Amino acid sequence: MRDFDIAIAGAGIVGTSTALWAQMRGHKVLLADPNPPGSGTSSGNACTIATYACMPVNDPSILLGLPRLLFGKDSPLTISYTHALKNPRWMLSFLANCSAKRSQAISRNLAALLAHADAGLNPLIAAASAEDLVVENGQLSVWSSKSGAEGAEGGIRQRRSNGIHLVELTTEEARSMEPGLELPIERAVFFPEARHIRDPEQLIQRMHARFAQLGGQTIAAKVSRVTAHGESVELRVGDETLQAGHVVVASGAFSGQISGAGTERLPLGTERGYHVLYAMEGHRINRPIGWSEGGFYAVPMAKGLRLAGTVEIDNLDKPVNQNRVSYLARRAKEMFGPMPDPSSHWLGYRPTMPDSLPVIGQSATSQRVIHAFGHQHLGLTLGGITGRIVTELAEGRQPNIDLAPFRPDRPYASG
Ligand SMILES: Cc1cc2nc3c(=O)[nH]c(=O)nc-3n(C[C@H](O)[C@H](O)[C@H](O)COP(=O)(O)OP(=O)(O)OC[C@H]3O[C@@H](n4cnc5c(N)ncnc54)[C@H](O)[C@@H]3O)c2cc1C
Repeated sequence: MRDFDIAIAGAGIVGTSTALWAQMRGHKVLLADPNPPGSGTSSGNACTIATYACMPVNDPSILLGLPRLLFGKDSPLTISYTHALKNPRWMLSFLANCSAKRSQAISRNLAALLAHADAGLNPLIAAASAEDLVVENGQLSVWSSKSGAEGAEGGIRQRRSNGIHLVELTTEEARSMEPGLELPIERAVFFPEARHIRDPEQLIQRMHARFAQLGGQTIAAKVSRVTAHGESVELRVGDETLQAGHVVVASGAFSGQISGAGTERLPLGTERGYHVLYAMEGHRINRPIGWSEGGFYAVPMAKGLRLAGTVEIDNLDKPVNQNRVSYLARRAKEMFGPMPDPSSHWLGYRPTMPDSLPVIGQSATSQRVIHAFGHQHLGLTLGGITGRIVTELAEGRQPNIDLAPFRPDRPYASG
């Protein structure tokens, strides 16, 4: 006999969205996570519902700048060369996906999924009565150098050809929108439809509260093993063994650690990212601002001014790299002029496949095990739609989105 229709491993934005979608559709749902809902990588991000962000980290410029990325200390993107040597499959596949042709194909696939993001997230925001956490004020991207401004052209063109709505601003227009910015502004692009969440962790907590109110169950324990049988899946949760109709692996960057789920075979890596928080400085800006050369966003959010971003390709278990924290604090002063010391800092783990596309679909081991991870820079944006798709898959229905680019068994390094 089954204990649950759907059991979900991981209560980040992806797992909690899935839990709420599935519970709202009347299924008997279990959410398992050793940590509180929304307390992991989903808590400390740049808060932006970035429906415009279809440009992957994979870019031809990475190939040209590789020596600096491997050995430099002052770049927004760094790659640990010892990590690269120990993880050749991920690294070589990542680099293969940096060709212009692949980068453009990835961008088209991301844009196609992003087009459904709001339809996946909005019903969850409404169900969780979390409208007050949503700010509809757009997003501003700025380039502070002439070379950066020129280099932005390709990405802007690609976004337009993917149907993303953007408005090019003059320097004066950008300054009047954000008078607190001290940076030189060589180019500015405004994404009017972008929104941000005042506190992503609170959004997930409210979604989880609604899930519980509807009868969803939560166990504060790790899923260590899943074993698919004919009509059900056995899962080991803490010290218990349970039966579910389907198991969803939504454990973010840790999704490869559940034995029997078929995830351990996939080239899942992590892009470590940081934030620093200035508790009293939230008033300085009106909306998320992405500074391209800095490699991070500044966001006015519930806890203050959060500067979140940068990419550090390294192991999950490495301690916080203080150089990355100092980097953000130093760049904050370039962006805003004199600033106090940060009130706190944080490290998170973006779950990243080498082709920067999420994994959404049935496992090669069993149709009853569904993968939902690898959302890299876009989990907050794409968690809602992923939850809806996964619920439809568990119901045996065909989602109205082409899932071929996101299949677990896709080729990860095709030319
Ligand atoms: C600096 C930074 C800025 C970002 N900015 C944005 C942004 O502005 N917009 C955006 O859309 N995205 C952004 N992202 C990306 C986004 O935060 C991630 O893609 C997203 O949080 C991933 O969500 P998740 O649910 O997959 O993983 P997580 O939030 O990591 O949740 C996974 C959960 O699984 C649990 N778990 C692990 N192993 C097990 C197990 N065996 N059994 C059960 N549970 C398990 C963990 O405890 C955790 O709670 C940013 C990321 C970073 C680091």
